[in-house]
Amino acid sequence: MKPPRFEYLAPASVEEALGMLAEHGEQAKVLAGGQSLVPLLNFRLVRPGYLVDLNEVPGLDGIRAEDGTLVLGAMTRQRAVETSAVVRERCPLLAEAMPQIGHVQIRNRGTIGGSLAHADPAGELPAVVAALGGALVVRSARGRRVLTPEQFFVAYLTTALDPTELLVEVRLPVTPPRTGTAFVEVSRRHGDFALVGVAVTLTLDAAGMCTGAAIALTGVGPTPVVAADAAGELVGVAPTAPAFDRAGRRVSEALMPDGDLHASREYRRHVAGVLTRRALARAAERAVGAS
Ligand SMILES: Cc1cc2nc3c(=O)[nH]c(=O)nc-3n(C[C@H](O)[C@H](O)[C@H](O)COP(=O)(O)OP(=O)(O)OC[C@H]3O[C@@H](n4cnc5c(N)ncnc54)[C@H](O)[C@@H]3O)c2cc1C
Repeated sequence: MKPPRFEYLAPASVEEALGMLAEHGEQAKVLAGGQSLVPLLNFRLVRPGYLVDLNEVPGLDGIRAEDGTLVLGAMTRQRAVETSAVVRERCPLLAEAMPQIGHVQIRNRGTIGGSLAHADPAGELPAVVAALGGALVVRSARGRRVLTPEQFFVAYLTTALDPTELLVEVRLPVTPPRTGTAFVEVSRRHGDFALVGVAVTLTLDAAGMCTGAAIALTGVGPTPVVAADAAGELVGVAPTAPAFDRAGRRVSEALMPDGDLHASREYRRHVAGVLTRRALARAAERAVGAS
């Protein structure tokens, strides 16, 4: 199918883009990498009157580390994030998740902001941002606001973004010392969306006891699911296989994912528990080596 008719707008600055969004409101749709939007247009599942193309807008991409925070512009291509030495060094969880998104051709065009704004319930990036407790910076002609992942991801393919707002950057805390992270997922074929994915972080003290943990899952709910109870129970205990087994069981029991043609509810719950255990074990090994 071909897309429905729309008027193509190519702003040359963030301010111009925000002005266009303010003027056209719900009639407008932002075009980033097009990897989700173009199929939606071609299937005529969305019918915007105006397409606001961000690809020639300067200042919306780039990766920089500032004061313990990794800042990623919304238009940064997924492939640029994947191949960034700064990301690998400062935020290994994000680096590990990136190659699991689709295929390299998709990551060459797809953007980090597009993935987050699209909010696919099986996407890797929402779970990474949720596990890390990142911040999503949003702008409109009226001003700027900063949202937590819990505020930003509202429902299936739905975020708190107003039609007049742009996601402009994502801020992630740099991984602290003695912290290991891991992202693991199961998908039917390489490049498919995850059936289930788990992002974890685990921090150990000098004696090797766990002082902090975070677990977030994808593919098991309409938004990323943060398993705060299971993670909280790891604090103050030794990072052992039985502790990780308990955490996996806790995660599995707390979930109530929908079954669909790809996987049943029971399968997703089971896999979520297994992947949580594996991710925690991997993160613990890495934490020992992370000074
Ligand atoms: C075959 C295939 C396999 C894929 N596999 C995976 C996978 O395994 N995991 C995964 O996570 N994704 C996967 N994707 C999706 C891919 O990651 C997309 O790139 C991503 O979902 C959207 O990013 P984009 O930059 O292409 O955004 P676009 O497609 O341009 O936009 C997506 C949506 O976000 C909005 N938007 C974009 N940028 C902004 C912004 N800055 N502010 C406000 N709104 C914005 C758009 O208006 C649109 O509604 C796959 C895609 C394909 C085609």
